[in-house]
Amino acid sequence: MSTTSPRIVIAGGGLAGLSLALALKQALGSGLDVVMCDPALKRDPHGDKRAYAIAAAARRMLEALRVWDQVAGSAQPMLDMVITDSRLQDPVRPTFLTFSGDVGEGEPFAHMVTAGDLTAALIEACKAEGVTLRPEGVRGFAIQPARIDVLLTGAQDSLPAALLVAADGARSTLREQAGIGWISWPYRQSGIVATISHERDHEGRAVEHFLPSGPFAILPLKAETLPDGTVRHRSSIVWTERNDNVPALLEALPDDLLAELEKRFGLQLGRIAFETKPQAFPLSFGVARRFTAERIALLGDAAHVIHPIAGQGLNLGLHDAASLAEVVADALRLGMDPGGADVLDTYERARRADITAMGLMTDGLNRLFSNDILPVRLVRDLGLGLVDRMPGLKRFFIREAAGLTGRAAPRLLKGEAL
Ligand SMILES: Cc1cc2nc3c(=O)[nH]c(=O)nc-3n(C[C@H](O)[C@H](O)[C@H](O)COP(=O)(O)OP(=O)(O)OC[C@H]3O[C@@H](n4cnc5c(N)ncnc54)[C@H](O)[C@@H]3O)c2cc1C
Repeated sequence: MSTTSPRIVIAGGGLAGLSLALALKQALGSGLDVVMCDPALKRDPHGDKRAYAIAAAARRMLEALRVWDQVAGSAQPMLDMVITDSRLQDPVRPTFLTFSGDVGEGEPFAHMVTAGDLTAALIEACKAEGVTLRPEGVRGFAIQPARIDVLLTGAQDSLPAALLVAADGARSTLREQAGIGWISWPYRQSGIVATISHERDHEGRAVEHFLPSGPFAILPLKAETLPDGTVRHRSSIVWTERNDNVPALLEALPDDLLAELEKRFGLQLGRIAFETKPQAFPLSFGVARRFTAERIALLGDAAHVIHPIAGQGLNLGLHDAASLAEVVADALRLGMDPGGADVLDTYERARRADITAMGLMTDGLNRLFSNDILPVRLVRDLGLGLVDRMPGLKRFFIREAAGLTGRAAPRLLKGEAL
């Protein structure tokens, strides 16, 4: 290899890939050359207005990576959560389950964070730590004895590395090139996302209405103060809808679409308006048969795609980043090859059970709630009502949503530096 320090190339600068790059560089400094490749690095990250629920464990990781302070000012804590189960035409949505959201003294179970703000903070931190950022894609690789040669788009020569991390999203071409199988099924649903402004304060409350076509989530965003001093209250919606209905909704006249939104959103927060144009994302389940191949590790959506019903997809990807960074840092400190089979096996074992459990849980919840079959409705509503009366079980669920129940959590998710 041309460099004296081992090199890791990360293909894909989404939130999972960037977090891994930062974690590795902070832990190992000049002992590891970290190269991040993604054509999207040419774009202004602030353009991405989507908002994600970041669970408490992932927030602790971002604190340990020293990027949380850069987004904390615009992050909205989730203070409580309300779950209802009803039909669209029902005049009222009775509350079946409520959670008050602290997992510790003054520590909310999740925060809503704008993807663009978090991406920008991670890119700046990566630059400051000395991660090499290359705005090019990875088009392929060649396995050599004791190394992998990474081929970049637009470049003839290759980048020799000890490990290639494929963090190139759900449609990962690198996963395919590595010959890793993908188990998947479509949900025949899309997630319509948009930012909504409303008259009244949401008071940090997240609401999830289980409707027959899929869950409709109202997630609180930080209010904005406009130049004239007025405060604009805002929420993000994830409106799950059957694919057949999506084109008509997105092509509807603005007033008709707003009327459809009102039927789901309700009037408890006063008058509402779209602040961003709704975007639809087709939903599917997918999990890689293996998370590693020779000198390759999959990360984030390249390894698993789950239903957004519990807002956990990115949180899983950040967990991958925390695990892989720990495994690689520990290996390098012991003088081991960071792309060796032992290291990759440890990563595979660390992630398999958690990812499978979360994938099946979100799949099961979606099947249980996205239907209007009367006996199923009765049983699930009875279940929700029972859980609501069991504070111990509710505490467990809220800690689960916060990512704090796993016994062998990687150090970064506990807020400890690597
Ligand atoms: C409607 C909806 C709502 C959601 N809400 C939540 C939520 O509230 N909380 C949560 O935790 N998760 C949520 N998720 C899931 C979350 O969006 C994803 O899990 C997460 O964004 C995946 O991040 P990633 O970094 O793995 O991949 P991506 O964000 O897809 O990034 C992949 C990157 O790879 C780059 N790339 C692609 N090919 C190449 C290549 N060949 N070479 C180099 N680079 C390449 C791309 O340009 C891209 O930047 C939601 C998902 C949906 C659909």
